[in-house]
Amino acid sequence: MTTTTTRHATEREARRVAEAAREAGWRKPSFAKELFLGRFRLDLVHPHPTVPEADSAEGEAFLEKLEAFLTENVDPEVIEREAQIPDEVVRGLMDLGAFGMKIDERYGGLGLSQVYYNRALMLVGSASPALAAMLSAHQSIGVPQPLKLFGTEEQKREFLPRCVKCVSAFLLTEPDVGSDPARLAASAVPSEDGKEYLLDGVKLWTTNGVVADLLVVMARVPESEGHKGGISAFVVDAASPGITVEHRNAFLGLRGIENGVTRFHQVRVPAANLIGAEGQGLKIALTTLNTGRLSLPAACVGAAKWSVRTARQWSGKRVQWGRPVGEHEAVASQLAFMAATSFGLEAMVDLASFMADEDRNDIRIEAALAKLYGSEMGWRVVDDLVQVRGGRGYETAESLRARGERPVPVEQALRDMRINRIFEGSSEIMRLLIAREAVDVHLAAAGDLVDPEAGARRKAAALVRAVGFYGRWLPTLVVGPGMVPTAYRAEFGRLGRHLRFVERRSRRLARSLFRAMARWQGRLEYRQVFLGRAVDIGAELFAMTAACVRAQMLAGTAEGKAAAALADAFCKQARLRVDELFRRMWENTDASDRTLAKDVLAGRYSWQEAGVLDLASASGLPWIAEVSPGPSTTADVHRTIP
Ligand SMILES: Cc1cc2nc3c(=O)[nH]c(=O)nc-3n(C[C@H](O)[C@H](O)[C@H](O)COP(=O)(O)OP(=O)(O)OC[C@H]3O[C@@H](n4cnc5c(N)ncnc54)[C@H](O)[C@@H]3O)c2cc1C
Repeated sequence: MTTTTTRHATEREARRVAEAAREAGWRKPSFAKELFLGRFRLDLVHPHPTVPEADSAEGEAFLEKLEAFLTENVDPEVIEREAQIPDEVVRGLMDLGAFGMKIDERYGGLGLSQVYYNRALMLVGSASPALAAMLSAHQSIGVPQPLKLFGTEEQKREFLPRCVKCVSAFLLTEPDVGSDPARLAASAVPSEDGKEYLLDGVKLWTTNGVVADLLVVMARVPESEGHKGGISAFVVDAASPGITVEHRNAFLGLRGIENGVTRFHQVRVPAANLIGAEGQGLKIALTTLNTGRLSLPAACVGAAKWSVRTARQWSGKRVQWGRPVGEHEAVASQLAFMAATSFGLEAMVDLASFMADEDRNDIRIEAALAKLYGSEMGWRVVDDLVQVRGGRGYETAESLRARGERPVPVEQALRDMRINRIFEGSSEIMRLLIAREAVDVHLAAAGDLVDPEAGARRKAAALVRAVGFYGRWLPTLVVGPGMVPTAYRAEFGRLGRHLRFVERRSRRLARSLFRAMARWQGRLEYRQVFLGRAVDIGAELFAMTAACVRAQMLAGTAEGKAAAALADAFCKQARLRVDELFRRMWENTDASDRTLAKDVLAGRYSWQEAGVLDLASASGLPWIAEVSPGPSTTADVHRTIP
């Protein structure tokens, strides 16, 4: 009973912290939010936004320089073998301005748009995913982005010019804090004179942390007189006394990343380095990720495009059973999936990025959908490439080269790709975040009705609100433009039928969410698998829309017809996935799976695990290392890039 009570208390606290960090307001329209409400607002994304000509000229010129630099200076096999990016490559990229791509020109950066920043990362990722991860961790979540969004003019002037020529890192995760920042233990105690904070704690999996010059650190300020306290964000100079990088981590993929464990012991941080206000740290972290999240799916798009090219070249050449393998139907269907998905993914990520630059819409849900969908579908595409390459898909590039074959790093691509479903918000957490936004309107209208903590007066007010809202909203879900057979056809030709499908399924999605709300009420948030399917449907519908809008934008160009064919193929495949997800919303094994999982956790089936060894347990080490406070007892492995 006590354990259950404690568990509920911590769960409530986790939810409260996440809720407080959420950006609550919607100042601009949101295509995806409307989609979940059954309103297909094609006008928000069509015609496809474009880049102003001046930006485009600058962006293209930079991409050209970048491509030349990468081709000449980056050897992915060296990065993989040595598990390190050569310092000259990092320096060279700094000289090129690649560490300041998103930093405003006023502060010495290139001031590229999100679209060109993504294209640059995609290019870099096709040379070395580890290198793209370094640039992205520095600019998408490292010091430049939170300062751009929340920094004061003084902070920008002090740190942004430095960021153009240095490496920075974002330190939120701790050994006991992954998806649940409510448990954050690092502390920042204000000094009595108010001039500084004393930072203590241990941060885990700090991408770039091993070589970083500047850090963004999330730490908890205790509440005291004159201090609101709460999780807060600080810019910290990595050379400050009391900072030790205790370990450099090694991973399944991204072998070149400089990711470590960093200890802070009584580190003095000037009060002027606090970003925003005390207690705003998580909001800053989450808002940073809103657009920061777009660079990760851009890297996934790069991997998908690279996979299609490799699969095309290989499966057209490799002959087995009298035909190129790509002509055998089983492989052909993989090729079709890869090509169509690559188009759909690029359409979705590009559209979200153009929308970010255009700044007409709120794109927080679109960016989150792009992160979720890009990493999940990108993974499937690369996995198919491994299959299409057969045994060679499993062999390292070095080994292929040694036996005289083209060193295509397919197994590495799969390993490098896997982390995208985990970091910057795991897929499970992304589905929860998106679902929260999708049901936001319902919570605003009727949340108090199902809130056990709401009193009679709040419930009565909620009832009035709910009757008003649902009275207006529900009838809109019955009929819509997609019911007219010719809808969207005039502008989109045969792709119009896919947009009709999106419109109709968008209303069905909203009806399903309403039905689920009515059925489970306050318990809906625990129906994660149901909500996950709703989110996955939303992602598919957004991707389908993006694919059609992109094809329409390309109509009349040399690639116009081929783009329409790819969009058509992508939509046909996506429609099957969407209808399967709808079916499984109500026809599934969720309830029995929950029971089964409970029994698994209780050890009821542990006999089933007999016959296999558990060698790691012989180490006697715990699953999660205890963090002992105090100074470091190990050597500092921090290194400065010369
Ligand atoms: C290579 C690498 C680089 C990284 N870089 C950085 C970085 O630069 N900065 C930084 O701060 N962090 C970084 N991280 C941390 C990364 O963001 C976390 O690994 C990620 O947030 C997940 O946290 P976790 O690993 O502790 O998993 P946990 O939170 O322990 O989760 C374990 C599993 O449970 C699921 N889960 C957790 N909570 C819920 C829930 N409420 N509902 C449903 N499912 C749930 C998760 O999805 C996951 O599948 C990095 C990690 C790696 C491996």
